[in-house]
Amino acid sequence: MAVFLLDVDNTLVDNDHVKRDIRREIESLVSADRASRFWSLYEEVREQAGVVDFPETLRRFRRAFPNEPRTEDVDRAVLDVPFARYLYPRAIDVIARLWTLGEVAIVSDGDRIYQPAKIARAGLLLATRGNVLVYEHKEDHLAEVERRFPARHYVHVDDKASLLARTKAALGARATTIHVRQGHYATEPEPGPPPDVGIDRIADLLTLDPRQFGG
Ligand SMILES: [Mg+2]
Repeated sequence: MAVFLLDVDNTLVDNDHVKRDIRREIESLVSADRASRFWSLYEEVREQAGVVDFPETLRRFRRAFPNEPRTEDVDRAVLDVPFARYLYPRAIDVIARLWTLGEVAIVSDGDRIYQPAKIARAGLLLATRGNVLVYEHKEDHLAEVERRFPARHYVHVDDKASLLARTKAALGARATTIHVRQGHYATEPEPGPPPDVGIDRIADLLTLDPRQFGG
């Protein structure tokens, strides 16, 4: 039986859209220079931790502007995103179909607090029956993923061709890689092995011939 390894950001959840809306809301709450400071702190954290970390960004924002009257509102703008509204069309139906073909798991990049909360709130923890793994750099944890979900064949679905190439390099013919060309990484060039399958939207997995999943 195959195991489907699904990415989250820009694969199941339109994270570019989430970020645009958070940006717009913060701009409506605080002055332009403070809003822009928020995003420079976000980048600073990302550079230091190597991963996006909103809780840490919020902590640093609060420290930078201890007298900002809208701090709690900024927290809410980031922490209370209704992620289920940002699922790509038919994302949950796709997961249901994949369950008829094998086991489904989410393997996502992110911090250990915000990202699991996002996944749960989007309805993806339920849809994947609790099969959720979050790493700061998931490409370094493939062996762990294999131990947790042993299978003869893996299908990795992701918007980042570079991550698919890493999986292909490690697993070779034991993996089918599917590139979902959604979000701002969709056109990023990748010198590694090309994806086995390319689709324009996650909903295309509803009609993909099961033989295309390989294995
Ligand atoms: Mg992604």
